[in-house]
Parts: sequence; C-alpha cells; structure tokens
Amino acid sequence: MRRKLVAGNWKMHGSLSRNGELLGQLAAHAGEMACEMLVCPPFPYLAQAQLLLAGSGIGLGAQNLSEHPVGAFTGEVSADMLADFGCRHVLVGHSERRSLFAESDVLVAAKFEAARRAGLVPVLCVGETLAEREAGLTGEVVSRQLLAVLQRTGVAAMRDALVAYEPVWAIGTGRTATPAQAQEVHAAIRSLVAGYDADVAGGLRILYGGSVKPQNALELFGQPDIDGGLIGGAALVAEDFLAICRAA
Ligand code: PGA
Repeated sequence: MRRKLVAGNWKMHGSLSRNGELLGQLAAHAGEMACEMLVCPPFPYLAQAQLLLAGSGIGLGAQNLSEHPVGAFTGEVSADMLADFGCRHVLVGHSERRSLFAESDVLVAAKFEAARRAGLVPVLCVGETLAEREAGLTGEVVSRQLLAVLQRTGVAAMRDALVAYEPVWAIGTGRTATPAQAQEVHAAIRSLVAGYDADVAGGLRILYGGSVKPQNALELFGQPDIDGGLIGGAALVAEDFLAICRAA
C-alpha cells in the first residue's frame, strides 16, 4: 500500500508575508488529510517554513541542490545545508532546471546521488516535451532520464525515493495529460524499475505533475500507478492545494 503524497513546488514565488499566510492555512488543515503533504519553497524561505511547519506533519523540501558536498561553488546550496534547515526532500531534475539551466541527465543523476548521500529523499522529475511526444518518443525519453540515475546509483538508491512524471507540455499550460495518458507512462516507469528490483518498484511512489487542479486531481489520483502529485501553480493558493490534498 503506497500512501499518496502531494507536493507543492512553489518555484520562484513567495514573500515572507504571503508565505506566512499560506503556510498557516496549510498547517491548520494538515491534520485532516490522508495523504502526506510536502512544500518546496525557494531557498531563502526554508527557515521560515521550517519554523511555521513545526509540528504540523507537513514535510519540507527544496527545489534544487548542488551535486557537490562543499566548496568554492558561488551561489550553490548543498544537500547538507538543506538537511540543516529541516528538509527531508529535494526536487531533482525538474524540467525547468533541465531546459532553462541546461541540466543534463548526467548532472541530474549526480544531484540525485548527492541528495541520497546526505540522507535526503530525492524527487526525480522526468518527462517529455511536446515535440518528443508527437514524435512518439515519450517512452524513450522517460526511460533515458530514469536509466541515467539507475545506472549511476543502482536500484537500491531508488528505494523510498520518489519519481515525478511531468510532461513538459502540461506544466503551467493548463493542459493536463489525460488520466489514461499519465497512467500509461507511470506504469512504464514502474515496470522499468521492476526490471531491476520488483520490490523497490512496488513501493516506489510516482507522482504526476503538470496543471493538476482541484477539478482534475481526483481522476488522476484514481489511476493505479499515480501515487500523488507535484503541484506548481495551484500550490500557491491554499484552498486549491488543500482541495488537491483532499482528493488524494
Ligand atoms: P504546474 O507545475 O502545476 O503549474 O503545471 C507543475 C510543476 O512544474 O511541478
């Protein structure tokens, strides 16, 4: 039995005052949820979120990390630093990192490993672009992104990690994958991992991301291989994020 998880990826949004309000509302209702809840604010607000979420049961994660443990890497943030501020999770290889900041499969795998080394739970984001989907390359692209990690770290590092399938064409566009389209890719991800270790695959939580809203969450989360969601825009509105959590 995989407990569903709903994570909010705030991206580069927020301010001390707005976060205070949002986190307060989330914390007030967290106790009603059957799913596990997670929020991923921008780096400067991790300390604020750690403080406001204490005792709420809502987990704290970061959106990115350095592949290096320490050193002369101006502007970078290490996995240990994230752990110091109460993060248990970290997104790795979000499509915006891959496309806007040129993160390769190799770099993403190194970041996944760095997160693991520090005891963090990586949320490995994978997904195809619209052009790749239209060219029939979805399976190939998602497999390539997963294999880069599996081959570097071994399947044991996938135990208790999370994968988020986020079709790039569905992110921030209002265009969601249909539940059947998402389920098909989720099942393929699980079966690829099962080729290495059936037990790890059976326990692996695979989140769907890309324009998840209160209106479509229930049907998406009803698919057998969809174990929750990675939410962008709707995670910034307390009532929307809470409604999505209720659907999980
Ligand atoms: P969205 O973003 O929900 O705004 O589409 C999802 C994500 O990028 O994680």
